[in-house]
Amino acid sequence: MKFAVQSRNDPQSNEIANRAISYLTDFGLTFDEEKPDIVLSIGGDGTLLHAFHRYTHMLADVAFVGIHTGHLGFYADWKPADLEKLVIAISKDEFRAIEYPLLEVTINYQTSDENFTYLALNESTVKSSEVTLVMDVELNGRRFERFRGDGLCVSTPSGSTAYNKALGGAILHPSLDALQITEMASINNRVFRTVGSSLILPSHHSCVLKPVKAEDFMVTVDHVQLLHKNVKSIQYRVAKEKVRFARFKAFPFWQRVHDSFIDSDLKD
Ligand code: NAP
Repeated sequence: MKFAVQSRNDPQSNEIANRAISYLTDFGLTFDEEKPDIVLSIGGDGTLLHAFHRYTHMLADVAFVGIHTGHLGFYADWKPADLEKLVIAISKDEFRAIEYPLLEVTINYQTSDENFTYLALNESTVKSSEVTLVMDVELNGRRFERFRGDGLCVSTPSGSTAYNKALGGAILHPSLDALQITEMASINNRVFRTVGSSLILPSHHSCVLKPVKAEDFMVTVDHVQLLHKNVKSIQYRVAKEKVRFARFKAFPFWQRVHDSFIDSDLKD
């Protein structure tokens, strides 16, 4: 089996990354950053986002596992103290891969027929580059509302515990093939109206955002933020691709939600 390692690049994460490489090599695995079967992410959930984006071209062939060197993460759920246990389990090929849904983001431009498609593990957000964001929201090809406000956040189920949660969105179990649209400070008065609630769309539905006046938008895809000029539309749907996580032990999602947001019994 071939493996790669992504570190957050702080001293503790680098030290654990070096130990992981040395242990796994001793157990007969091959360090291969080009075509790994498994990627160890050492840091936090943010580090796993970086690892994911490094390997989006080969998601069907790679599984991710995260070790947290700070607090417990949703993607980074192994403790550094359990590194040896994890290495033994990986070398015995004892994991089963569980799959989580991803978000497909396609941006079309006024000025060319070219479009860009991205995959998000957590979410994509749209904000205006200067003024209030004004965009028409279409659901399945029908106009749903004209949104005015700070922005919109479209998240995956596993990303629902990240930015989406801070915006008041719901937490979705990652076994649901869905996406969630959550508002950022919409303007609501007697003149302007949006639905206000987060919307959860199934995998056969799509959402298209169309600019009303402005054409330049800040679009994020996970940790990557880019200014897109002359935008014609931004389409969101549940991606065909999935991300695979290597699971060696049961750590139910709702337990992770409890330990992350309510009260951690793990004392980590
Ligand atoms: P960052 O500022 O380092 O990360 C923001 C926080 O989000 C970190 O504490 C990170 O956990 C946590 N996080 C990431 N994915 C998560 C998930 N699926 N569930 C729960 N928490 C999660 O920025 P970054 O490392 O570049 O990560 C980009 C992410 O930041 C975006 O995808 C977005 O979700 C999040 N974000 C959140 C807010 C907000 O909550 N107001 C605002 C902007 C962006 P770790 O500490 O374990 O890495």
